[in-house]
Amino acid sequence: MRKAIRDFDFYDKRVLVRADFNVPLKDGVITSDVRIVEELPTLKYLLEKKAKVIVCSHLGRPDGKVDKKYSLKPVFERLEELLPNTKIYFCPEVVGAKATAMADKLNGGELLLLENVRFERGEEENDPYLIEAFSKLADIYVFDAFGTSHRKHASTYGIAKILPSTVGFLVEKELKTFEDVLKNPNRPFVAILGGAKIGDKIDVVKNLLNKVDTILIGGGMCFTFIKAIKGNVGASLVDDEKIKICYEIIKEAINKKVKIILPVDFICAKNIDDEAGTEVYKLGKIPSDKMGLDIGPKTVKLFRKFIKKARTIVWNGPMGVYEKDVFKNGTESVAKLIGKNKHCISVAGGGDVVSAIENFGLKDSFTHISTGGGASLKLLEGKELAAVSIINKD
Ligand code: AMP
Repeated sequence: MRKAIRDFDFYDKRVLVRADFNVPLKDGVITSDVRIVEELPTLKYLLEKKAKVIVCSHLGRPDGKVDKKYSLKPVFERLEELLPNTKIYFCPEVVGAKATAMADKLNGGELLLLENVRFERGEEENDPYLIEAFSKLADIYVFDAFGTSHRKHASTYGIAKILPSTVGFLVEKELKTFEDVLKNPNRPFVAILGGAKIGDKIDVVKNLLNKVDTILIGGGMCFTFIKAIKGNVGASLVDDEKIKICYEIIKEAINKKVKIILPVDFICAKNIDDEAGTEVYKLGKIPSDKMGLDIGPKTVKLFRKFIKKARTIVWNGPMGVYEKDVFKNGTESVAKLIGKNKHCISVAGGGDVVSAIENFGLKDSFTHISTGGGASLKLLEGKELAAVSIINKD
């Protein structure tokens, strides 16, 4: 068993927290502070236990170079507002003499935010020198950046080999939610998959075939499945390399008595910018110069039957090009239908679905919205997360 955060004595200890403060910024201003707010339970707990809290995170992709555009200074300013009774300091470097001096000066119950870890080239290379420098700053390591937990970086992975480590409350909640639904789901268990990149989701579908009762497939990825059973898809998105595997998945689903439900109609247009030319076509009837860009109204009705009866739902990937008003109905309808089912545990993950749900104002009608796109896909694939599996177990 991994030692939980509650099992550590943090009093007067230097604790390095790897957070995910990769917040959206516009002209240096934070446009959503959700990621900072979600980190507060772990930070407040450690501060209450009188730990000397040293926090690090990445922001954007500065590629190992200092780039002011990606400074964590705006995060520091927001943290000061969110923790008004805590002494908070900002270190303009990640590691080095200044960071060491500032960390050494911290008192129990105070917090130091380091600059963007990706300003260091060694971060993404999991460089031993950077790992050693991190290890000198702290006595205990707390991993709480779920969104990066599938990555083997110095501040997410390398450091956990050196210091006594645990996961924070955010990661703990994500892991427990996915473990509960995948190991012990209330049935019927329905998975809803969509989005464009079918290659990212093949392993998810394969793993879910052993867990769920039904898989509803929409989005761009449904067309490779339709092509696999010789259906006409017009000019819709198809990944030719994945047709064979989709066919095998359909056969395996039949053997395992898992229902794979594909759309029966589509909102189509010549391309995603052809907003004026949208029309609904039945399955098999999409003209050769048009692509399916959203699921149609009959499909929403069909999916509704399964969503209504479900007792567990996991959802990854939008049903259509939800970024455009004319192609967002499928995704919005599915989100609303899930929200209406009050008897169901609903878990949504993946950047696009999460931002769609947030835009529709439906966040509160889900049991859990995952903070990690790639990481949640890995869990749905039944795989371990690198940064979590390295945390010491005794
Ligand atoms: P993914 O990262 O694989 O989850 O894909 C998300 C993207 O899929 C979003 O940007 C959607 O606009 C896009 N998408 C959803 N449905 C379709 C579709 N039918 N055709 C093309 N792209 C789609």
